[in-house]
Amino acid sequence: MQYHVNGTLVPAEEASVSVRDRGFMYGDAGFETLRAYGGTIFEWDAHADRLQATCEALSIDHGIGDDLKRRIDETLEANDLRDAYVKCSITRGVQPGKLTPGPADNPTVVVVASELPRGGENGESVWNAPASAELVETRRVPDHSLPAHAKTHNYLNGILARLETDADEALMLDSEGSLAEGATSNLFFVREGVLHTPSLSGPILPGITREVVLGLAEEMQIPVRTGRYRPADLRRADEAFLTNTTWEVRPVGRLDDSAFEIGTVTRELAAAFAALVEARHY
Ligand code: PMP
Repeated sequence: MQYHVNGTLVPAEEASVSVRDRGFMYGDAGFETLRAYGGTIFEWDAHADRLQATCEALSIDHGIGDDLKRRIDETLEANDLRDAYVKCSITRGVQPGKLTPGPADNPTVVVVASELPRGGENGESVWNAPASAELVETRRVPDHSLPAHAKTHNYLNGILARLETDADEALMLDSEGSLAEGATSNLFFVREGVLHTPSLSGPILPGITREVVLGLAEEMQIPVRTGRYRPADLRRADEAFLTNTTWEVRPVGRLDDSAFEIGTVTRELAAAFAALVEARHY
């Protein structure tokens, strides 16, 4: 396996960054998790825009522009990967030992990838069972402390949430008690045929899968509402699912101690997602 480190492909065992890198020391970095299907990146433009927004939020003016895409493609090609998980990070790099950040003149740019086979024919994805989910005590960090639209290396909020549970996903409320999102996924639920998801006005990552699913729902004329919801709204739902780049559309089979059916809307959206991937990439 070869990874891309600062513009060069190197064997995975030799891929390393400085212990003084600010991405390592402080989480001073942005990243994206991407998925390649059939050798090309799904929703590249959306990922590039989100990474740019993250870097702007952190004032990491990295100047690598379109070259990141080339590095990702080179990584896929060097490893002969077609269906793959890809992660790319841009850190502020190594700087004198103080917290105050300087200009990102020498950012660290890393691309790693590994094989991630595509799912089954019925819209199942890499998950082989519905997810269990638990509403945890850890609250999503408010936007005015750490902007949720920025996908930074600071994932401690989600890590603390996951530490609270053995479930596949830890669901967090925001500081006001409204449903926010999972540690690494966006939340959807369906009640009486209407698809609901927390709106981007709350502290949630604008998930790229979330956006694609909302587009599919519109095309399929599934009524959609976004808003601020309480845990009781989720508990009363007929179906629920989680979205992210690796899980795609993953049904929730259990929330805390109660079971959820995998419902029609979830199945239809999962199948539509699989069909979209098929049409675009194969
Ligand atoms: N929320 C959080 C906190 C995440 O880490 C992720 C995964 N990137 C998501 C939502 C889903 O985003 P996407 O669909 O872009 O993978």
